[in-house]
Amino acid sequence: MTQQLLAIDQGTTSSRAILFSRDGKILSLAQKELMLHYPQKGWVEQSPDDIWNDTLWACRDVLKDADNVAGIGITNQRETTIIWNKNTGEAIYNAIVWQDRRTADYCRDLKSQGHEEMVAGKTGLRLDPYFSATKIAWVLDNVEGARVSAEAGDLLFGTVDCFLLWHLTGGDVHATDATNASRTLLYNVVEQCWDDELLTLFNIPRNILPQVKDNLANYGQTKEGVLPNVYTVGGMAGDQQAALIGQGCFEKGMVKSTYGTGCFALMNVGSEFKRSENQLLTTVAYRLNGEVTYAIEGSIFVAGAAIQWLRDGMEFFSEAGGSEDLAISVPDNNNVYFVPAFTGLGAPYWEPEAKALIMGLSRESTKAHIARAALEAQGYQTKDLMDAMNADSGKAPEVIRADGGLVANGFVCQFLADMLDVPVELPKITEATAWGAACLAGLQAGVFDSLDDVSQVWQLDRRYEPQMEAGERAALYDGWRAAIGMLVK
Ligand code: ADP
Repeated sequence: MTQQLLAIDQGTTSSRAILFSRDGKILSLAQKELMLHYPQKGWVEQSPDDIWNDTLWACRDVLKDADNVAGIGITNQRETTIIWNKNTGEAIYNAIVWQDRRTADYCRDLKSQGHEEMVAGKTGLRLDPYFSATKIAWVLDNVEGARVSAEAGDLLFGTVDCFLLWHLTGGDVHATDATNASRTLLYNVVEQCWDDELLTLFNIPRNILPQVKDNLANYGQTKEGVLPNVYTVGGMAGDQQAALIGQGCFEKGMVKSTYGTGCFALMNVGSEFKRSENQLLTTVAYRLNGEVTYAIEGSIFVAGAAIQWLRDGMEFFSEAGGSEDLAISVPDNNNVYFVPAFTGLGAPYWEPEAKALIMGLSRESTKAHIARAALEAQGYQTKDLMDAMNADSGKAPEVIRADGGLVANGFVCQFLADMLDVPVELPKITEATAWGAACLAGLQAGVFDSLDDVSQVWQLDRRYEPQMEAGERAALYDGWRAAIGMLVK
């Protein structure tokens, strides 16, 4: 009987469970959309109860006909912060989502006090509201009684992986993995430990933090009665790191780029920690048997979300795929550029206050040009990241492995290859993130023997070759740089 692997993929927009076969076939999938709440300008929250209940529902649904599950792997939206009472299991505040910018002033203050150098040297990150630490501090300082309860040992902090694990194990296990820990701003990624100096800086008590494990570990067993059987959670990783694993990027220099709500490109840079000198992040790619592999990461906050906005906000088309029809209905962008900085600019510009911009409109501009500009923006944004990555690593990648909802768009994939002047490859297993979590569970359960074994499952579905002339590429990119120049101080 073939062995099955359960991946829990708790993302920003949905909670999913996918049952995979060993060769990456989807045997069953259940998914529920997850609401985002915007209680104030710049605030983004989700219901922890929804996160848990929807995930539980999805797991139960796909497991009802499963008969040979070797293990569970969890992957999740990263940085999103939950604090709950360990006696009741109740969250004391909503989940504060990674996109939330309520702590922008706090970050600016810490920066102006000169702390960024120390923080970046230990974490590979920046002082930005994106990461968990200032969100934790906000909850402790703004929810009545929270600090006192935390000091008394009644509260637990977790990113979504940790929160789900705690519930799956009936409150027995409070643990996270090295990739999720590496996104909190509290974890020293060089020494692989929670860092006292960082805890003091953000005023966060150590006793609320989870134990940090390798990505492959025995995370514990699901509590009887929670799922149809008792299963072992054998692997966890943040979503972008899981996609790197699912895309088989185990060699130094390999790059994956995921185009969902946002775009996240990660390059495997091997076992040596090196800070980015080009405005990117250094992060844990994975930790196996105590050995760390690092990645440099470029995070763009808005990718597919711009297409969603054209669909829902502007009503340009009723399905995201309509953007492609519009884009190819015109021969070029007619000098229209769209910088989708709806929630500020991420890497490599880091302008939290920036707003989106459409530039170069003329009387003959139509919505086709704007749609085209939104799709082209994916290529320009990725080129910004790749140029920074190449400068950091000293070597351009030979190929980019892409995934995420947006790669269904052929125009985007071809434009990416053209703009980067590098082939873009799409995998047969399109659910790279969930598959990465399944691979971790499979490695832990012995379904796979090694990373090599995992990378052999990766198969090419489609390859886009660069076709654009250098002059045209340069001219288009110059237009983008001019648009960015309007936003960057
Ligand atoms: P996430 O995991 O972040 O929720 P997905 O990987 O599911 O995101 O991708 C969904 C995003 O991809 C949406 O923002 C949607 O607008 C965009 N998208 C999906 N299909 C297309 C398409 N054919 N063309 C352009 N954008 C698309």
